[in-house]
Amino acid sequence: VTAPPRLDEFARIARFFAPLAGVGALGLRDDVALIDGPPGTQYVLKTDAIVEGVHYLPDDPPMQVAQKLLRVNLSDLAAKGAAPLGYLLTTALPPSHDEAWLEQFSKGLAADQAAYGIFLLGGDTVMTPGPATLSVAAIGTVAAGRAVLRSGARAGDIVHVSGTIGDAALGVLAAKGQELGIGAAEKAFLVDRFRLPQPRLNLGARLAGLASAMMDISDGLAADFGHLCAASGLGGVIEAARVPLSPAAQAALARDPARLATVLGGGDDYELLFTAPAEAAEKIRALSAGLGLPITAIGRVEPGEGVRLLDAAGRAITVEAAGYRHF
Ligand code: ADP
Ligand code: MG
Repeated sequence: VTAPPRLDEFARIARFFAPLAGVGALGLRDDVALIDGPPGTQYVLKTDAIVEGVHYLPDDPPMQVAQKLLRVNLSDLAAKGAAPLGYLLTTALPPSHDEAWLEQFSKGLAADQAAYGIFLLGGDTVMTPGPATLSVAAIGTVAAGRAVLRSGARAGDIVHVSGTIGDAALGVLAAKGQELGIGAAEKAFLVDRFRLPQPRLNLGARLAGLASAMMDISDGLAADFGHLCAASGLGGVIEAARVPLSPAAQAALARDPARLATVLGGGDDYELLFTAPAEAAEKIRALSAGLGLPITAIGRVEPGEGVRLLDAAGRAITVEAAGYRHF
């Protein structure tokens, strides 16, 4: 019998990998690394892997698996205000992933290369007994010193999110066959939000110079807000009633209010979470209108440490699994 691992994902990174980190690694406490490029620019580096049965379901269409793999990486570039350049791809596939699977998978890559103006730069192709593991390393650029880090929040800053929160976490439940008691169109919307994230590259780029701190939401709103506040050496509060919900998520919540924990704690939204001084409100409103993308103020940054989630009456809400953690 193997004992369960004692260190979670973040403790592992802090203990074994952070001591190895060099200049530009941002202490392994941000979304990306930054390396000086040609004068006036920095390269932005990020890698993310997805595993069958963990990040995608065996029945997910291979085209969408490819697109999700690329987009979760592009989302981290977006969260720094960077523009994507290209990517490296490593595939470790069991025999179940045959040429027909690869045909569809590469079609998905081609579609997103066109959509985001990026190219494949290299990679590696290996066999595995399984499960399938796919890894992308994305490279982007940002004007030197313009990247928005997780660590720049100041006490009093307002906390904002793009889009709607919780759709992907509810979409996973729906994709796994859980009966949410909602209509077919609503269910399809939620599953699509899980399978096909929309990296907010345009918004991220325009927030450079406006946002004080930023990250993308991959582990869940509650956990990721905790990461941003910790990186900034501050605490913060989110008012749950202000968290923007899609009509489909609202319908799922109306059926079972306990699903609020899934909405606030679940991951995979790939929306942007950022802080900005109150004076930036007008510019943020204009940005939101210009892009046709909702941006919602949901809380504030405070002195101290730790984050609190409050309900409409100001009572503390505990989110059971504070974000998805490997190990
Ligand atoms: P995100 O949710 O933005 O993808 P993660 O939570 O996966 O970020 O990772 C947090 C930080 O730890 C990032 O800076 C990432 O580059 C770093 N990191 C994670 N795993 C490793 C590893 N095995 N070796 C080096 N750095 C790592
Ligand atoms: Mg990230």
